[in-house]
Order: sequence, then C-alpha cells, then structure tokens
Amino acid sequence: MPNPQLPPLREVIAAHGLQASKALGQNFLLDEQLLDRIAAIPGKLDDTATAYEVGPGPGGLTRALLRTGAKVVAVERDRRCLPALAELDAAFPGQLSVVEGDAMALDARELAGDGAHIVSNLPYNVGTALLVGWLSAEWTPWWASLTLMFQHEVAERIVAQPNTDHYGRLAVLSQWRSTPRIAMKVHRSAFTPPPKVMSAVVHIEPAAQPEGVDIKALERLTAAAFGQRRKMLRQSLKGLPGGLAALEAVGIDSQRRAETLSIAEFVDVARVLSG
Ligand code: SAM
Repeated sequence: MPNPQLPPLREVIAAHGLQASKALGQNFLLDEQLLDRIAAIPGKLDDTATAYEVGPGPGGLTRALLRTGAKVVAVERDRRCLPALAELDAAFPGQLSVVEGDAMALDARELAGDGAHIVSNLPYNVGTALLVGWLSAEWTPWWASLTLMFQHEVAERIVAQPNTDHYGRLAVLSQWRSTPRIAMKVHRSAFTPPPKVMSAVVHIEPAAQPEGVDIKALERLTAAAFGQRRKMLRQSLKGLPGGLAALEAVGIDSQRRAETLSIAEFVDVARVLSG
C-alpha cells in the first residue's frame, strides 16, 4: 500500500527535475501497486531481511522494498536522485542506506552483507553484466535471491530451454546452478518514459552446485560451442583444448549442435574439462 505521507512519484520527479537520462538507462516505474508486487516476489522480505537495489532513481521500487520492513541498501549513479532518496530515508528512519556510485565498480557483498536479496529494476546497459557477475560468485553465493527486471528478450535468454532460438550461454550459466523463472511480464507502457521493448522480472534462487565443475571451464565450453551455434560440435569445439575428447568421454555425438545439448550435458562436458 502506498504511504499516505509520501508524495506520488510523478511529483517527486517533477520536484527534483529528474528528467530521464537515456545514457543512464532511466525508465522509471511509477505504479506503486505494481512496485509492491515486484517487492513481494522474493517472498522473504521482512524486518529481518536486507534488500540490495541497483539504481533506485526517484525511489519507486525503494519505497516498495522499505514497506516490507526490510533494510535497503541502494546504489545510484545519478546524483540528481539523492535528494529524493533522502526524503525516503526520512520517511523510513534507519532502514535505508544510499550509496552514490557505479554498481559495476562497487562490491555489493560488502555493501549489503551476506544473505541479502538483490531486487532491482536494472539499467539495461549493465543488467546482463551484473547478472553474470552475481551468478559467477563463489557458490553457494553470498546473496539469497535475485529479482531483476530485464528486457523481455534477455529474460527469455535466461530461462531458455534447449532447441530454442534463445538458448545459449546465458541460459547455461543461469541454469546450471539455479532454476530461473519469469515471475512477471511488464508492459512497456508501465515505464516513464516507455522503452521500445517489453520487460520481465526474473527471479532466481540458488540451487546446489553440480560437483567438480569449474565455472571457467564451463564458460570456455559454452563460448566455443555457441560461438558457432549452427555448426556441429566437432567443428565449433575444434579450437577448444580437450573439447572433442571431453565430448567423447561423456558419450556425446560430435555431430550434434550446441543448442541441442541439455544443461546437464554441458555440465558433464565441463566437468571433464575441469579435471
Ligand atoms: N528503480 C527505479 C524505478 O524502478 O523506477 C529506476 C530504474 S531505471 C531502469 C535504472 C536506474 O539505474 C536509474 O536510476 C539510473 O540512474 C541507475 N543507474 C544506471 N547505471 C547505473 C550504475 N552503473 N550504477 C548504479 N546505478 C545506475
């Protein structure tokens, strides 16, 4: 429920002159009921929890996160947003820490602490890089869950199944140790200004890591395999040291193409390459 003492987000944007900057990937969400639904996706935010938010902007999602009772650590690059966020700090005393800076250069674990839930309407230009960084963390990861808004096409690449156009490196990286799901589709008209494409919120909870697989080996394998995704593996893995032998060792036909391999098969090959 919106807090009666807080002005509507449209007024906050007008009062602080927060015209959206394209360079900073600014597409703001102003519908507080929608924002409350996003904040509810992790299912575990209460006054014992911490949420880490990248890019609070005028603070719409931040408000919704604060309403759950959670502590919120928010990193914002655009200084123009800081006065609006200071107002939120005053409305929810002791719950909000705002850090001015570039989320790509800051240590989220140090800022938010182990067990934090990462919840963000991400700037599209850095969203995938941040996701890859969080998924590449030492496992079990320091974070408890990821609830992240992406362009719909990126969300599809995260949850894609074999033998589909969207299946590729991001699907394998995301799914080898988690079961990502699209928790909500968000129409472009929900944003101010509306972006060109539709969006979706992806929710990820870490699962047990398959034994004996080095993430670097998995990444080298998927980079080679999907680098030439229409080619047979015997061609695309030619340049990967040990690649063809690893395929043979686990009994995968080298005439298959990358997009036909299941996550489990990629993991099996990567395990041999990790040895
Ligand atoms: N959370 C707000 C909302 O839902 O309305 C704003 C989301 S907007 C898509 C992305 C936000 O990320 C903007 O406020 C932008 O200034 C901020 N941002 C862009 N690049 C950033 C970076 N590298 N580090 C931290 N914040 C960044």
